[in-house]
Amino acid sequence: MTRRYIVRTYGCQMNEHDSERIAGLLEADGLVRAESEDDADVMVLNTCCIRENADNKLYGNLGHLKPWKDEREGRQIVVSGCLAQKDRDLVARKARHVDVVLGTHNVHRTADLLTASIEASAPVVEILDEAVVDDHVLFPSALPVRRETSYRGWVTIQIGCDNTCAYCIVPAVRGPEISRPYASIVDEVRDLAAQGVTEVTLLGQNVNSYGRDLQLAARRAGDTTARLRPLFGDLLRDVGAVEGIRRVRFTSPHPKDMGPETFSAMAETPSVCEHLHYPLQSGSDRVLALMHRGYTADRYLTRLAQARDAVPGLAVSTDIIVGFPGETDDDFERTLEVAAAAEFDDAFTFIFSPRPGTEAAELTDSFVDPEVSRERFARLRVIIERSSLAKNQAHEGATEEVLVEGPSKKNPSVITGRTRHNKLVHFTPPRSIRTGSYVAVEITRGAPHYLEGRFVDMIAESTHRLRIPVAVA
Ligand code: SF4
Repeated sequence: MTRRYIVRTYGCQMNEHDSERIAGLLEADGLVRAESEDDADVMVLNTCCIRENADNKLYGNLGHLKPWKDEREGRQIVVSGCLAQKDRDLVARKARHVDVVLGTHNVHRTADLLTASIEASAPVVEILDEAVVDDHVLFPSALPVRRETSYRGWVTIQIGCDNTCAYCIVPAVRGPEISRPYASIVDEVRDLAAQGVTEVTLLGQNVNSYGRDLQLAARRAGDTTARLRPLFGDLLRDVGAVEGIRRVRFTSPHPKDMGPETFSAMAETPSVCEHLHYPLQSGSDRVLALMHRGYTADRYLTRLAQARDAVPGLAVSTDIIVGFPGETDDDFERTLEVAAAAEFDDAFTFIFSPRPGTEAAELTDSFVDPEVSRERFARLRVIIERSSLAKNQAHEGATEEVLVEGPSKKNPSVITGRTRHNKLVHFTPPRSIRTGSYVAVEITRGAPHYLEGRFVDMIAESTHRLRIPVAVA
């Protein structure tokens, strides 16, 4: 009988893409996707340890899955991802009913470990300390991938991170930075385009340092022609030139490594979208130094101005942490000033919470009073909402290209999609429209977190079969 699987994903886009690879590997092994948990034989929890209380949530979820597993013979539970990498044997010790625990460096072994666990009397735990340097297993190019959408694809360009941001667990669980070979990335994008994908997002923890390790390795191997200059701009141009690719996005750049060559590539490659996610984290130089971010607020704003000069109409989003250990009122005032000066289109704002295993989690003596953090957070949100609203209202009256994503969750007769600036747009279509189509929409209203618009015209109908069922007004 055909076995069915379900993958639950926690965390970032890197994890979501890993989940696509896990799904692809399971399907290559003969499993099919389950419609629901009731229907599933294999449950994969692809975990993240970046969020607050991630471990408590995982162990809580695993507790709830014990009756699910006992209900039907042969059911299996897999725990993968960053939290599995960090907690290792602890996962199996706390939840003996788990069948497989695998980390971030051996996703390619999912199906093999699942098979091995059928014979095993105890959970099978396989965590590698570092990545196996082999393109076939590190990156999805040679692994089957079951992509969640047919018109949009994530493409991993590097894994790991060489930075040491004090609040971040990623270097510990994903290892040092390893860039994927250049040609392999461009080939994957060509394959995606041939399958009908029109939008790609290049994924890495620090995309602007992409290729540094490849160039150094080539130099060490005696290749004196290897250029020691940033490669990310070149990559944007080459990926953007692939026929059939209408939109290129990337995440995340690091302000300390972002330079003019990236801005020129963005400006000169029509398919690269006019959107930049540019994580600020704090506006205080003192806090930025405590975080080990490697830039000052001035440098951040200078680079931002260069980016906006190079790419007219650039939309900018950011991440900001409030209440980092030791943040004073003065430090926070600097963050407010920089946020106001930067006029962000959007911001992911967080109150600091310690992640076990990070340097910042040890700074308990300088933790900020939670009440103070909450009050600062609310003040920051006022600044962010103000600039978001102004930026969105500035689009009113413009006709923009929108990539259709699907019916609105709140009202299925309304369609949602995204502009090139990565803004969510709601509009009512005159007829059913396929997801993945590009349409022209006149923006009629800018709200703080979305735009509303009026359908104007079809730009490019998706070749995919799925149509959005809409009640035509
Ligand atoms: S750049 Fe900093 S925040 Fe980003 S993954 Fe690396 S260590 Fe974490």
